[in-house]
Amino acid sequence: MLTDLRSLELGGKKVLLRCDFNVPLQGGAITDPSRIVASLETINYLRQRGSALVLCSHLGRPTEREAKYSLRPVAEYLSQVLESKVALAPDCIGDVTGRMVNALGPGQALLLENLRFHREEEANDEDFAHELARGKQIYVNDAFGAVHRAHASIVGVTRYLAERAPGFLMMRELAALHSLTENPQHPYVAILGGAKVSDKIGIIRRLMNQVDTFLIGGAMAYTFLRAQGQEVGRSRVEEDKVDVARELLALATSRNVQVELPIDHIVASAPAPSAAAEIATRIPADKMGLDIGPATVQRFCDVLATARTVVWNGPLGFFELAPFAAGTLEIGRALAASPARSVLGGGDTAAAVAGQPWAKDFTHISTGGGATLEYLEGIELPGLKALER
Ligand code: AMP
Repeated sequence: MLTDLRSLELGGKKVLLRCDFNVPLQGGAITDPSRIVASLETINYLRQRGSALVLCSHLGRPTEREAKYSLRPVAEYLSQVLESKVALAPDCIGDVTGRMVNALGPGQALLLENLRFHREEEANDEDFAHELARGKQIYVNDAFGAVHRAHASIVGVTRYLAERAPGFLMMRELAALHSLTENPQHPYVAILGGAKVSDKIGIIRRLMNQVDTFLIGGAMAYTFLRAQGQEVGRSRVEEDKVDVARELLALATSRNVQVELPIDHIVASAPAPSAAAEIATRIPADKMGLDIGPATVQRFCDVLATARTVVWNGPLGFFELAPFAAGTLEIGRALAASPARSVLGGGDTAAAVAGQPWAKDFTHISTGGGATLEYLEGIELPGLKALER
């Protein structure tokens, strides 16, 4: 059982709020603040209830203290949107930070420096978790994107803070995923793309019992096409997964689950912005498939037209480069316009549709890529288990 945040007595309490502020940065500027924006509801609620708010997060994968992984841009962004100064503590633990936490008054917020500046965070170190909890009375976890990680700020810390609850973003994310696993309306379609089949084998097996149709694009489609004996030129293929792909295709046939693979492609000699991109139904030996072609887009859209529930994880092409982005964007636009319940996994799928005017029309865009996949695979999320009473 998870505690309802609204049932906690928050006034005057020091609350440790674990967020996922792992935002993309370019030259020190935040290029997409969606993850911060997604936690504002919880932040505002806690401040309005008179909590003294201690925010913490990881950012990137630093191996040691590195200025480029500082959460300073996040502190500045929060100060602007909250219209109230959010100071950045020099560290997430230690005496100086401890004094800043002690001095924090009701309604004020402090951001701790990047948790991953300490390797103890990822090691779920007990002493480090104890230090993180020091001086706080309540723990709230809104970091859905990190809930599949057994790290100190996600798991270890809960041992020292008995009063704990998920934040509102966490609850929204879980409700969206729950709607996919509990009695989804049919036809239920899974759109899968991205770089590797190996990342998606678990979810394909699991969804095989739930969905009516898989629409498969991205680089992972080429391992399936190879498994069907098709020529894929120099497209990205995971040779050691061709047998698994063949087995999954056979399983789908035996279960009467439809699998749609690309019937045409946007090909080029390399994924380069200036590459001469062409439409091809058969991939020439010296070319690689970098996006689904127009006939595939049409075919996928026909399937989506009757879908009632859709889950989408992974871009359908090399969307970072304009010549290979159309497939992902056209499928995105069609799905957003459809009446189906649509849930997008985070990570690259969210990045691929970010900024599009129709992105607001999806039922839910998750802030977590890995966490979404593990939830849908039926893997227990350590951060959720730790939050339970
Ligand atoms: P993932 O991290 O598994 O979601 O994969 C996302 C990455 O897959 C993105 O960087 C895409 O550029 C890449 N990708 C998608 N389609 C292709 C393709 N046909 N060939 C090579 N890379 C691709």
